[in-house]
Amino acid sequence: MQSVEAANMLFRSLRLLRETPIQIMPVRLQSNATTRVNTTANFHFVPVSDPADLQDVEELQDFVSTSKRLFVITGAGISTESGIPDYRSEGVGLYARSDNRPVQYADFLKSGAIRQRYWARNYVGWPKFSSFSPNISHETLSGWEAVGKLHWLVTQNVDSLHIKAGSRKVTELHGSAARVMCLSCPSVIPRTDMQTRIKHLNPLWHAESQEMAPDADVFLAPEQIAGFRVPECEKCGGILKPQIVFFGDNVPKPTVQYVHKMLEESDAMLVAGSSLQVYSAYRFVSAARDQKKPIAVLNIGPTRGDKLADLKVSARCGDVLPQIHL
Ligand SMILES: [Zn+2]
Repeated sequence: MQSVEAANMLFRSLRLLRETPIQIMPVRLQSNATTRVNTTANFHFVPVSDPADLQDVEELQDFVSTSKRLFVITGAGISTESGIPDYRSEGVGLYARSDNRPVQYADFLKSGAIRQRYWARNYVGWPKFSSFSPNISHETLSGWEAVGKLHWLVTQNVDSLHIKAGSRKVTELHGSAARVMCLSCPSVIPRTDMQTRIKHLNPLWHAESQEMAPDADVFLAPEQIAGFRVPECEKCGGILKPQIVFFGDNVPKPTVQYVHKMLEESDAMLVAGSSLQVYSAYRFVSAARDQKKPIAVLNIGPTRGDKLADLKVSARCGDVLPQIHL
């Protein structure tokens, strides 16, 4: 049965790719470099799902067509088709495949050994993590911004794929793995610079790993990490941390306030590829309900927001979003 579903899914995605005019297009990065949209969707970390119900797609089409200032929240489910795993999906998420768990903020702060482990593992995972490309869903939402449909986009992902796809009206709610901040001074450096500094500090150190988490973390044995040296802030000697909201930490208040403002200016909310298990995103769905704004949820499987939603579509983002026409 699963192989039939997989074949249906593949057939459908191939048909969509053929019918979609934007298959390969250069995307301008902030650095003015160019990348290419990932056209060969990678289903390795995508939960098995049925093709989207046609009536559901029509209802979502009406939902999007009616909105003039759409607010969109995305989560890991929009990036799984780029080859990045999520945490929670049944069977394919990190929690289902591995005992590996993300670092807790308090542990990172108090323990030099944990920071050494974090940076050694992240250093190994970064080349692959930073090479992932946006997929057709990121590209579709970028197109919605370009024609004025989208008022604001909020993502829980730290993979920068919306930025790579050209979205600019976007808040990265949990930060970005592409930046590194000092905990003692205002210094922020590109993640690529951190990679260079680590390499200089550890010229003979080398490790490899196959498993990868949604934040570039990989598994390494303790003996692989021994001797790894972690750079300090060049300006003040402080602790360096990716500009990511770790588990156990909070989204900065000004960010939350800004997103609430963008939500108030919007007239409808679409959740795409998130189970909304994390409160930092769920609170905006709850606020949209309080403001009596229509809510649609597009996600494989149940979400914490289903009971608040006017419309639920249980399917892949990459199956549904390109079918919506503006
Ligand atoms: Zn500093």
